Amino acid sequence: MAERVVVVGGGMAAVRLAEQLVGADVCLTVLADEPHAPYNRILLSAVLEGTHSADALTLRSPEWFEAQGFDLRLGARVLELDRDAREVVLVDGERIAYDRLVLACGSIPTLPPIRGLVRRDGTLHPKVHPFRSLADCRRLDAATHPGRRAVVVGGGLLGLQVARALSVRGVLTEVVEGADHLLAGQVGAPAGGVLARDLRRLGTEVYTGARAVRMTDDGVQLDNGALLPTDLVVLTAGGRPSTALARRAGLMVGRGIVVDSTLTSVTDDRIHAIGDCAEHRRRTTGFVPPAWEQAEVLARVLRGEEAAYDGLRSVARLRATGLEVAVLGDPRTAEGEVVEVTNPIAGSHRRLVVHGGRIVAAALVGDLSRVGLITQLYDRGTILGPDEPGQLLLPEAADAPTPLPDEAEVCACAGVSAGEIRACGTVAECVDRTRATTGCGGCADVVRRLVGEVGPVRVPVG
Ligand SMILES: Cc1cc2nc3c(=O)[nH]c(=O)nc-3n(C[C@H](O)[C@H](O)[C@H](O)COP(=O)(O)OP(=O)(O)OC[C@H]3O[C@@H](n4cnc5c(N)ncnc54)[C@H](O)[C@@H]3O)c2cc1C
Repeated sequence: MAERVVVVGGGMAAVRLAEQLVGADVCLTVLADEPHAPYNRILLSAVLEGTHSADALTLRSPEWFEAQGFDLRLGARVLELDRDAREVVLVDGERIAYDRLVLACGSIPTLPPIRGLVRRDGTLHPKVHPFRSLADCRRLDAATHPGRRAVVVGGGLLGLQVARALSVRGVLTEVVEGADHLLAGQVGAPAGGVLARDLRRLGTEVYTGARAVRMTDDGVQLDNGALLPTDLVVLTAGGRPSTALARRAGLMVGRGIVVDSTLTSVTDDRIHAIGDCAEHRRRTTGFVPPAWEQAEVLARVLRGEEAAYDGLRSVARLRATGLEVAVLGDPRTAEGEVVEVTNPIAGSHRRLVVHGGRIVAAALVGDLSRVGLITQLYDRGTILGPDEPGQLLLPEAADAPTPLPDEAEVCACAGVSAGEIRACGTVAECVDRTRATTGCGGCADVVRRLVGEVGPVRVPVG
């Protein structure tokens, strides 16, 4: 009899797992607490910005799940795991049995310690908006009007996306970041400086090294005494892996649910975890590319194939209008020699960390024209000659024809190469066969060019 695989969570990792299990001999049930069809969370800021409708974010429709013979339950919140009975318990008391359980419950936003954020009755101050789900996005969208003022608390990837979206909508937006530069979790101070300059140029004020400490009806008070009058406060200052279910069920939990290289809980070999909620080799991730890679590995494990996740490849792309950021590995802490070029006038920063001739980390801000090639060299561990790292950081000559090699990775989210895209006749076929463009969407232009829907490709984009 086919194994009963039950997935808790209907987010980006869960959908990728379902896609990879099409045709497998499993009986799949996906329990998703949100009421809408699974959607692309990365593009929420595009909905806020007004460039995408909420419907356009759907990753796979309920009809698609049905057509595959999968059981997608929307609005189904899992309350408890009963490991002895191998069942999950929903809020309405229904029990669902599993042979294999996959925890793909993502992360939950953390509330920063700001006085007045939460009112006496436990509700958030009416001006305050978290930004994690489609419901959050709709609520913020309804409060967004040109000429209003907004303070975005948190200058990480999410904060920058939201700040750009609000600013494009005509909201006077300010970003408050406690660290001494933007995107401090991913890049160093020079790159953060370039981003702050870019944001200011685009009309958004940035306060770094300043913490929001108090929320009043007049605005947000910073620890340096400044008061920022505002109509809206958006919280984007981080999230933490959703581990409550696992913890209560006695699974080993560190920052996330601890799994081995087969994405299996180290406590219970019937339970797996993928995506933002999983912790592998003491690391949690928080980005789509690793979540999708984990989903693909786990699908192979569930099919009974040999597969292992090494967690070595880490790629993050920021989707925000007018801001270009790509981060490979951890360029702040990776050991090696640093080759770096900052051009504050052009608004670009490129940093490669090279160890033993191999690129072990990179941060690219403002100009991603070489990201496809750099990602390919990073992924393959190609040994570079002494001049090559420097050459990679030089801007590409505008007229230099640079054919994109078949092996170059074009879609960092789904890990799709130029050759795989060239093998498709249309963008639609490519989306269907490879899922390229369905993550952050940063590769859409190159995909269109590679399948010949517009002019030839000369610029590699990841
Ligand atoms: C606004 C925003 C912008 C982002 N932008 C980027 C970006 O530009 N690039 C990038 O790489 N990453 C980005 N991320 C991060 C990316 O979205 C996550 O890494 C990715 O969604 C992780 O997938 P996941 O399936 O682990 O979690 P999620 O997609 O969060 O899905 C988890 C799902 O599980 C559900 N769930 C939780 N508990 C239960 C339960 N008990 N029962 C049933 N369901 C449950 C949740 O409601 C949620 O729907 C962004 C995140 C946000 C919020």
